[in-house]
Amino acid sequence: MSSTRKRILVTGGAGFLGSHLCERLLAQGHDVLCVDNYFTGRKDNIAHLLGEPHFEAMRHDICFPLYVEVDEIYNLACPASPIHYQFDPVQTTKTSVLGAINMLGLAKRVKAKIFQSSTSEVYGDPTVHPQREEYRGNVNPIGPRACYDEGKRAAETLFFDYHRQHNLRIRVARIFNTYGPRMHPNDGRVVSNFIVQALKGEPITVYGSGEQTRAFCFVDDLIEGFLRLMAASDDVTGPVNLGNPVETTVRELAERIIAMTGSRSKIETKPLPVDDPVQRCPDISRARNLLDWEPRVPLETGLERTIAYFERLLRERGEIAAAPLRLRA
Ligand code: NAD
Ligand code: UDP
Repeated sequence: MSSTRKRILVTGGAGFLGSHLCERLLAQGHDVLCVDNYFTGRKDNIAHLLGEPHFEAMRHDICFPLYVEVDEIYNLACPASPIHYQFDPVQTTKTSVLGAINMLGLAKRVKAKIFQSSTSEVYGDPTVHPQREEYRGNVNPIGPRACYDEGKRAAETLFFDYHRQHNLRIRVARIFNTYGPRMHPNDGRVVSNFIVQALKGEPITVYGSGEQTRAFCFVDDLIEGFLRLMAASDDVTGPVNLGNPVETTVRELAERIIAMTGSRSKIETKPLPVDDPVQRCPDISRARNLLDWEPRVPLETGLERTIAYFERLLRERGEIAAAPLRLRA
């Protein structure tokens, strides 16, 4: 083994972000162990990696202890879309909290550096805008999003306690809405929903007035941020916001996707889900200063790549006609 090749564990490695991360780590020449229970992840996401000599996939639920020898751990395992994390909320909290305890215990035993994929949801429905890392958030602890938000907050607490108590090398990233190829087509997230609806010519479901905002980061930019944070010096523990600070309303996103796909879909308004944050946008000064990182892919370019991915997927599944929608006028 070369001296720079590391053994790296990626939990949730068969998910949307995890599969892109595994790909990048392999390209850098590392040995990658992907651990996933396939709750929301898919074998299809990693099928192209299975033949790689330095890639290994293991079915395992991180709510149970794991004994492996690794140098670094990226802890991504956790359903991320509201419909998935609210499907079995108790399991969501267990994955965040017990999963963090197990992965931190592993990191402590093998002296590995460990990365936590936290979330902008730790800010809840924010009263400060844009959100900086110092902001402590506005989370409803008993609402339907709490299993995810509070689970991730407890995981952050555990990471910082292991760091203070056991000198563990930790990296905590707070990820804002990220999109791209390999998002689950039925995960209910806004980008995947709107693209699939537009491609199928179905109504575009805008929840509430559509005036709520999000800021969307393309997956390649985010993964670059992960790698830089992991490689940063050990005093850079985080939390560090990673996301694209370009804010857009949900209605603007819908209109843009309709235009880009050439779809005949019409916007249909649906009730706003409980505790849906009104406004969300990262302040990424910390990531800029500490990691020299900022997103490079404009929304238009990222959406083009994501639309191309879903067009191919839906055609393969026979859910849309063979010719691209733009050419079907
Ligand atoms: P995803 O659902 O595609 O991936 C999560 C993966 O974790 C899946 O492969 C799933 O099968 C696996 N998993 C779930 N519970 C598990 C368990 N108990 N044991 C082992 N594996 C388990 O979601 P994603 O978008 O790739 O999110 C990855 C991580 O990033 C999550 O921790 C999520 O909270 C965080 N995050 C994502 C976003 C985003 O916009 N995509 C935003 C904020 C935070
Ligand atoms: N949303 C929407 N229509 C959809 C799916 C989502 O209007 O079909 C809205 C949702 O209410 C929220 C925003 O889009 O205001 C982002 O939702 P998503 O589930 O993608 O992420 P999160 O709410 O976790 O940021």
